[in-house]
Formats: sequence, structure tokens, C-alpha cells
Amino acid sequence: MIAAQLLAYYFTELKEDQVKKIDKYLYAMRLSDETLIDIMARFRREMKNGLSRDFNPTATVKMLPTFVRSIPDGSEKGDFIALDLGGSYFRILRVKVSHEKKQTVQMESEIYNTPEDIMHGSGTRLFDHVAECLGDFMEKQQIKDKKLPVGFTFSFPCRQSKLDEGILITWTKRFKASGVEGADVVRLLNKAIKKRGDYDADIMAVVNDTVGTMMTCGFDDQRCEVGLIIGTGTNACYMEEMRHIDLVEGDEGRMCINTEWGAFGDDGSLEDIRTEFDREIDRGSLNPGKQLYARRLHKTTRRLVPDSEVRFLLSESGSGKGAAMVTAVAYRLSEQHRLIDETLAEFKLTHEQLLQVKKRMRAEMEAGLKKKTHETAKVKMLPTFVRSTPDGTENGDFLALDLGGTNFRVLLVKIRSGKRRTVEMHNKIYAIPIEVMQGTGEELFDHIVTCISDFLDYMGIKGARLPLGFTFSFPCKQTSLDAGILLNWTKGFKATDCEGEDVVYLLREGIKRREEFDLDVVAVVNDTVGTMMTCAYEDPNCEIGLIVGTGSNACYMEEMRNIEMVDGEQGRMCVNTEWGAFGDNGCLDDIRTIYDKAVDDYSLNAGKQRYEKMISGMYLGEIVRNILIDFTKRGFLFRGQISETLKTRHIFETKFLSQIESDRLALLQVRAILQQLGLNSTCDDSIIVKTVCGAVSRRAAQLCGAGMAAVVDKIRENRGLEHLEITVGVDGTLYKLHPHFSRIMHQTVKELAPNCDVTFLLSEDGSGKGAALITAVGCRLRDAEQN
Ligand code: ADP
Ligand code: MG
Repeated sequence: MIAAQLLAYYFTELKEDQVKKIDKYLYAMRLSDETLIDIMARFRREMKNGLSRDFNPTATVKMLPTFVRSIPDGSEKGDFIALDLGGSYFRILRVKVSHEKKQTVQMESEIYNTPEDIMHGSGTRLFDHVAECLGDFMEKQQIKDKKLPVGFTFSFPCRQSKLDEGILITWTKRFKASGVEGADVVRLLNKAIKKRGDYDADIMAVVNDTVGTMMTCGFDDQRCEVGLIIGTGTNACYMEEMRHIDLVEGDEGRMCINTEWGAFGDDGSLEDIRTEFDREIDRGSLNPGKQLYARRLHKTTRRLVPDSEVRFLLSESGSGKGAAMVTAVAYRLSEQHRLIDETLAEFKLTHEQLLQVKKRMRAEMEAGLKKKTHETAKVKMLPTFVRSTPDGTENGDFLALDLGGTNFRVLLVKIRSGKRRTVEMHNKIYAIPIEVMQGTGEELFDHIVTCISDFLDYMGIKGARLPLGFTFSFPCKQTSLDAGILLNWTKGFKATDCEGEDVVYLLREGIKRREEFDLDVVAVVNDTVGTMMTCAYEDPNCEIGLIVGTGSNACYMEEMRNIEMVDGEQGRMCVNTEWGAFGDNGCLDDIRTIYDKAVDDYSLNAGKQRYEKMISGMYLGEIVRNILIDFTKRGFLFRGQISETLKTRHIFETKFLSQIESDRLALLQVRAILQQLGLNSTCDDSIIVKTVCGAVSRRAAQLCGAGMAAVVDKIRENRGLEHLEITVGVDGTLYKLHPHFSRIMHQTVKELAPNCDVTFLLSEDGSGKGAALITAVGCRLRDAEQN
């Protein structure tokens, strides 16, 4: 489909080219369609050569990049001046684009004489003349005191490396002023204006007349993406995909290419038809015969490219108005970019700011660990009663429950110790309907027990009273390995009568109510701890667990002497930081944006888990959506139209960030993703959306890295080490599937904790395997105590 469109562009030009030339020829010689198609192919080859880095130097059709990247979108406004040099007249225009109800364009213009001796004199004289005429025009318009944006239509072949530069390749038509070829005409003109000193001008764009024509028509019809001039000379331009333009950096979006197709055949590639061709061209220029000519062009075009529907629009004063349009678009875009950058700058955290985040996290961790401050601390630093990582002797069959993630799962985990350690797992996923998540606690636990019952039947193990580890990924205050009082729900959960209760008790009561089977609930496990344990089973250096999935949290092995909430000074215990709540006392407010606040306000737990809400999968898409809405309101996106889709909460899932930010994705694919979402985007829109996604996910990764830097440095200091080598076990789909998150996070940790050498290990099913390992360790310790 895309390829077909592209082809159509090629064909369009192609066709117009030959058509224009050939059409007349056809009239006399009855050139067959076959020949025309053959010429199309030749022209297409020339275009390809012109666009390629290797062949451009020798290509006859130069395919000059114009740095015009978008056509008008109808929201342009302002007061502009256009200079039009290189046509039959030298004209200066004032173009006012206003925006009341509908866009209107008001133009005033003057024609100035360009005497022959100036055209053929020195370049300095020519540009002094242009500057003088401009001065006169501004005088008459009484705008000499203003510095209006100026567009400069300069209809000669120019090389450009930016919009406001034009290096004349060679004079054509009647011009021959010396010292201009090879020079930048914007510089020459600016110099001439400066020399006068009586007014100021801001030359924003140099434009070819074909581009002006396309832009003028593009103003009235968004689909106009080709410009064609058939006058004294002939030329065409069109919007090309950036990835096809070797000579300009970047692959995103499009740029208008000035084909300079008049030179087609200069290398003899049209020799076979040239004599007649030339004659026809000559005849055409002497005798306008416009109507007949146009109809013939249209007809031939349609016949040669039956798959594309081509509409022809007549441009009115294209070269002048068009230059103003290019300037207007450039002006609008530069204004927009400034405002967009300004907004997204809030998401760009400096090294200094990130160090601050690390420092504050450290302070909050200390507060959570201390008896005196624990009660009011937001980062709760909950003891888990997990005192050691696995040692490899764990053995037996265990059940595990995983509640608190996207899915609820029941697992059977068979751990075998010995020479060949193995872990075999069977699991079944069960849905938890939203009405159960947000119903009563009894309903929630009855539902859980029903799922367990189903699983035991499914595995044929209902008779055995297996030890069970309950992965319950919410903040719990534990007093032992098998007791956990839920402090508050997070993420999507909101069941009543659970907060303040021991969830192991609630589970045991649920099992009793059912009177069908019995289980030995050994441990309540946070998913971060499960993750750490799973990775520690493979790598004894793993003493930290990290989750970046629906929510975000971390745990680590802390010295018992620092954990004031639990008696005892010896050894270590895993602390579940519950760092998602970092910032709930306002300590991150200086970096939270209005978008973060909006996402928070509409969440189930407003004001809570502020750090998590800037980092994790449940929220990043929402932050992006809120920014997109704001940008649309301000007219930067989707032509200012806020669709129903965009208004729908949670429609912009975090997985779309991963897709959109993938490096391998072309812009058209980004558009396709937005299209799927019901967002009709232009190329420019999709660039902006991608930039927004990048800013949001980058900040998330950096904030997460700053938190992790605080954790590893604390462990290093605990142990009195200059240098710490440590492994972090990580789980969570955002971390695993986002194309840049993990890299940026690692980088941030490195920068903020330079004395730590941190390895990140991906956890496979920490909530299942880890829970079983903790249960196994728990059983071992319990047995040891009893004996
Ligand atoms: P949980 O944290 O709930 O146990 P996951 O680790 O699977 O489960 O994380 C689920 C979250 O990951 C979802 O909230 C979703 O926003 C996010 N997510 C899903 N797919 C992707 C993806 N391709 N890229 C980034 N995030 C994703
Ligand atoms: Mg999980």
C-alpha cells in the first residue's frame, strides 16, 4: 500500500514530465503508451540517481532537497513579506494570513523593474537593487519599523542545507549577475539590507517557484503534494519520504524535492525522441494554448497511472503567495517547536536533579527504617522476614499464588536439589473480574479459593496438603513470614474490608469457608522479593529485586541492625521498600508536571504512589495521552481536533510507547499505530507523538535509575565498601519489552552510583518460582526450629 503510494508519486512526476513534453509530441507523432511507459521508467531511474548519494554528483535530474518539510495545515497566521525574483517580473508582496472563523489571505503587491544592466552586472548591484525595492515597498506599507518574516522565491537551481539558505548553482533564464553562482543568496541579500541600515528583515525561507506553487495549492487542498510549473521553463517538485533522500540526515517525515527536471535528457537519455520533442516544446512556449494542453495532460496522466487519482489545481500567484506560505509554515513550526520543547523540557531531568532524587530517596529510606519516623514515613521499608537467599538445598513440591499483577495465577512448583538442580512449574491463569477486584474482600478471597480448587483438580493433587507461598504484591506490614497486614491497595485493586487485615488470615478463612481442601500457608511474599529470590537461586550476588511492570517497587537485603522495626542486630533481612509511594509527602513535587497531576487526580488512589505513577506501565500511556490532549488543544497536533478516542482514558496503553519508540519503525508505521487507535495523524503529528513518548519513557527510566542508585549506594555504605559489585533481579513487562527503558535505567545507575558495579539479571517468573523458593526456605527453617 505504502509502496504503491510511493510509486504513484514517482509516476505522477514522471508522467507529468513526459506528459507535458510528450503530450504534444503525442499529438503529432502518436507516441504510443508503450513509449511513454518506457520514458516513465527512464525518468524514474533519473530521479533515483538524483536522490542517491553515490549517483547524485553525475545525475542530470538533480533532485534538490528544499528543507520544506510540511505543507500548510490551515492553522497558519501572521503578516509576511514575499520576494519573487526569477520570473518575468520582480515582485514584492505583503501577505496577511488571518484566522477568524476561517483562514483568509490578504495580499498586496508591487512590481519592480529589473533593468538589463543590473541583471548582467555585479551580484552586489543586483542585491542592492533588491534591498532598495524592498525598502521602498516597506516604506509604502509603513512597516519599516517592523521586522516581518520574509520568504524569498528565487527561481533558479539552488543547493540548500537549510530552509533559509540557497546556494546558486547556476543562473538560468535571462540572469547573469557576476559573483553570485556558488554564493548563498540569503547572505548576499542580508548584507545588502544591513549596508542600508534603514530597516530590518528576517529572511526565513528561500523557495523555488515550484515549491511556492505546491504550497499555495496546499493551503487550499491538504492533499496537494506536487508542484508543477509549465511556463517559460518547466520544473516540478513533490513531497518525498526522508528515508529516500540520501543527501539529508534523518529518516523521519518528508521533504519537498525540487526535481529540476528540465535537465532530463541532458545526458542523451532522450536522444531517440529528442528532435521532435524539442520542436514541440518550442511550439508550446510560443503558443500558450493552455486549455487544450491542460486537458491533454490530465488525460494522459490518468491513463498512464490508473491506480492513482490525480487532481490538478491551478495555482494563483504561486511564486509569491507560496513563498509567504512557506514562511508562514516555517514560522508556525518554529513557534510550535519552541512551545513543544518548552513543555517537554519539564520531562528532561538534569544530572543535578537526578542526584537530588537519589538523595531524597535515600533520606526517605532512612525515615522508613527508623522507629521514630516509620509511622509517618511514606517509603515504608517493610521487613519481609526473608533472612537469606536460597542456598541450593531447597527441595519439594510447593504451591504458589500470584496476586497483584495483570493476571492472577496458581502454580505448582517442583524444586529438586542435588547435583542437577531443577525447578519445574505448572501454572494456570485466572481472570479477576473488575467487579471482584473492587467488590468485597470476602468475594475476592472466595474467588481466589475457587481458582485454587479448580487448579488442584486440574493437577490432580487435591488430597495433598502442600505448603503454599502467597505472592501478594501490595504493601503489607509483616510480623512474621506468614502474616501480612495490607496497608493499602494500589494499582487497580480496591476490595473492601481488606486494608488493615492480615491477608494470610483472609486466605485461610476463605479456604475454611469452602470446606473442600486444606493448605499449609507458609509465606506471604512480595513480588519484588520473589524476583530477588529467583535470580539469587542462579546468582548468589543477587541481593536486590526490582519490578517495573504495572507498578514499580524494589527490595534489597538490609542489615538487621538498621531495621529498627524488627528486634535483633545480627545478619540481614530483605526489606520491601514500597518505593512506589516515594513523593507522597510532596518531596517530588518540584519535578512533577501538570500531566502527572492530572493522571494522579483521576486514578483510584489519588495522591498516592506518586513515584510509581511517573515510572510504571499502568501510567506512562496515560501521561502521554494527557500531553497529547494538551498539545491538541494548543493546536500543535491533529489539526487541533480532539477526537473521542483521545478523550478515552487508558486508551493509550504503555505497550504503544514501546511500539512507537522502536528504532526499526518507520514513521508511516507510527502513523499506522495511531490510526489503529483512531488517531488520524499527519507525518508531523507522528513525529511529535514519538517525541512525547520518548520524553515520558526516558524520564521514567531515569527516575527509576535514580532510586536504584540510592539503594545500591546504601548497601555499599552498609558494608563499608569503596566499591560494590551486586546483581539486581528484575521483572516486569515494561522493563523487558520497552526498547530503551532498561538501557537508560542502567546508564543512570552508572552515572549516579559510580562506585557500584551493578549487574541486572532478568527474572523468569519471580512471583511463582520465587514464592516457592521462599516457602521452601521457610519450611526448612521451621523444621529446623521444631527439631
Ligand atoms: P505485573 O506488573 O502486573 O505483574 P507485567 O510485568 O506483565 O505485570 O506488567 C504489565 C504492565 O506492562 C501493563 O500495565 C502494561 O502497561 C505494561 N506493558 C504491557 N506490554 C508492554 C510493552 N510491550 N511495552 C511496555 N509496557 C508494556
Ligand atoms: Mg508481576
